[in-house]
Amino acid sequence: MKVAKFGGSSVASASQIRKVGTIIKDDPTRKFVVVSAPGKRSDNDTKITDLLIQISTKHIHNEPITDLYETIIDRFQSITDELHISEEVLQDIQHALDDAIQSTTCDHTEKLKAFGEDSSAKIVAAYLQSIGLQASYIHPAQAGLFVTNEPGDAQVLSESFEYLYKLRDKSGIIVIPGFFGVSKTNDIITFSRGGSDITGSIVAAGVQARLYENFTDVDSVYSVNPQFVHEPKEIAELTYKEMRELSYAGFSVFHDEALIPAFKNQIPVCIKNTNNPTAKGTMIVSEKNPEIDCVVGIASDEGFCSFYMSKYLMNREVGFGRKLLHILEDEHISFEHAPSGIDDITIILRQDQLTPEKEQRIVQRIKEELQVDTLKIKKDLAIIMVVGEGMKSTIGMAKRATAALADAHVNIDMINQGSSEVSMMFGIHVEGLERAIQSLYQAYFES
Ligand code: ASP
Repeated sequence: MKVAKFGGSSVASASQIRKVGTIIKDDPTRKFVVVSAPGKRSDNDTKITDLLIQISTKHIHNEPITDLYETIIDRFQSITDELHISEEVLQDIQHALDDAIQSTTCDHTEKLKAFGEDSSAKIVAAYLQSIGLQASYIHPAQAGLFVTNEPGDAQVLSESFEYLYKLRDKSGIIVIPGFFGVSKTNDIITFSRGGSDITGSIVAAGVQARLYENFTDVDSVYSVNPQFVHEPKEIAELTYKEMRELSYAGFSVFHDEALIPAFKNQIPVCIKNTNNPTAKGTMIVSEKNPEIDCVVGIASDEGFCSFYMSKYLMNREVGFGRKLLHILEDEHISFEHAPSGIDDITIILRQDQLTPEKEQRIVQRIKEELQVDTLKIKKDLAIIMVVGEGMKSTIGMAKRATAALADAHVNIDMINQGSSEVSMMFGIHVEGLERAIQSLYQAYFES
């Protein structure tokens, strides 16, 4: 049996939900369906989840919410009307929205954030029934999807998998809303944004699915962001490790946290297109022949900064690294990379974690407590990841990258080859990003 997860664009309108119906009908092994909240229908549309976040902010500040409320209800009504779904479903959705707004306080916005997925699942289940399929909607509380009490960043609790396994005994198709679970105290708690992928993966692991299909709006994962390169190569097969590296650095087609449950249970993932379901898609598997596609993709992300520190005899100073990381921990800051030399180290972090106050405190403490000789902060860095398991055993991979960056007149601020050798990381100033990616693409995929 398979788990099929449909993203926001796949349930954005009645016509999209009809496509979902056809996909489910076409393959009786698609027993578990996980859905996102309705996403954008066009570039200037707004996702339901964003509207819900806006409504919760306004409600907390006692500002009028009527317009937003109507926009949300109208959106669901247009879907239920067009799909000829019974009035009761819409009434239920409206009651649920009223209830979620009532329970929203400045400490509790989770129910409202989860409302989009919850309503989507009710609609999809009703629609599948209307086209003659046996389908039922199941709330994560009923399914036993328990998570930690970390709003907006929930982590699955291990006992969930046992509860989810029992869903296999239920007859018919089971439709589960994505993006949230419930805490041990039965409160709704959401995953991080884009987290319906995580639900899909947890359900796939729980029910021991043969395949986790993740339906989105592209035919496959591309080897590079199509914004930079016209019609880049499609990736047919990737390993979990490769996908993890790519999705970390800007490949938004699959949530990076979603890989873990599938990976631990060795469930292959297939990224497919709701608008073109016969396209093969991209398979994510545990192992593949490393000689095929030595480099599979080039990912990039912006918004990083670096703290460069040097101190004579740093290599002999016991506890330097620990003290440095402790300063970051005190400020609740996570770091992404830490390339180091004999007497120097660079810590790379996501810039949006820093406020001017935090930055000042960190700088002061590094100077006072670590007595460094030099401390330099660089902002607006972009990170490029050249990813491929086959790089490990192929000579000349780094040479190709550095030559490509030199050809593009891009200065390399940092190089780091992860210990796993699945990726090479280059830190550059954001200004040269597009040139750098195009030149790297040429070097690895066109030469
Ligand atoms: N609706 C949620 C979001 O926009 C989760 C998802 O779509 O996966 O982040």
